[in-house]
Amino acid sequence: MSYISIQNVSRTYHDAKSHGRFTALDHVSLDIEQGEFICLLGPSGCGKSTLLDMLAGFSQPSTGTIRIAGEPVTEPSIRRITIFQNYGLLPWRTVAENVELGLETLGLPPEERHRTAAHYLAVVGLEAFRDRHPAELSGGMQQRVAIARALAVDPDILFMDEPFAALDAITRMKLQDEIAAISREQHKTIIFVTHDIEESIVLADRIVVMTPNPGKIKTILPVDLHGTARRDRTSPDFLHIRERVFEAFALKPEDKTEYYI
Ligand code: ADP
Repeated sequence: MSYISIQNVSRTYHDAKSHGRFTALDHVSLDIEQGEFICLLGPSGCGKSTLLDMLAGFSQPSTGTIRIAGEPVTEPSIRRITIFQNYGLLPWRTVAENVELGLETLGLPPEERHRTAAHYLAVVGLEAFRDRHPAELSGGMQQRVAIARALAVDPDILFMDEPFAALDAITRMKLQDEIAAISREQHKTIIFVTHDIEESIVLADRIVVMTPNPGKIKTILPVDLHGTARRDRTSPDFLHIRERVFEAFALKPEDKTEYYI
């Protein structure tokens, strides 16, 4: 069995308008291997966050099963960390104290907490900011702190829900490169929600293309790019994959200047 197994999962919500049920996800199946970087790509409303929430154990499928390492997912776990768009830092704590948060939950002694926090602040290039407070940092730096905090507990899986959506384009590209490097060096399994086509190509081993009404997996595109070809958004190989994403969404030629779907 695969590391993460999503079998025939559907999720319905109460629909306030019709007083019936609204199908947000319809019979979704997907197998994910340990160490894979998966991007869930699709327009707003196709059920990306609904699927991520269920993988993280925040909610349950209406029908179908989700298993991680063979066990049904019934609740959130400190072994699986979710990083959201809004960083989620505690404003009254310093950068280092924020990174130590999960380590406190794990009950580590102060010295080990300080050492581990310092290590992961160095991984994200923020050693010099350890005593600052979140309000003193840019959005990109705050998201780096959130990434350091997540990595500090050495999780098996990182779930990321449009983590770079609020950042400017240049910062977003830098953080994309950083998280790609981190995923390779730390061998994490990462499930990353986005509606940014280029972001999914830069990051993913496989892009899971989703469409709405009801939310379904349209197709799965492997991204076989290596070295600079992955970061060079104008390379022929990169553009070839982008074309395949456009085809998957059946975008018309005049819509192909859009990078977001
Ligand atoms: P995405 O992340 O792809 O934008 P979501 O998973 O957030 O999509 O939502 C999928 C669909 O389910 C949307 O139509 C959304 O309005 C609906 N939905 C999400 N959460 C709820 C909820 N708690 N109650 C009712 N409908 C919901």
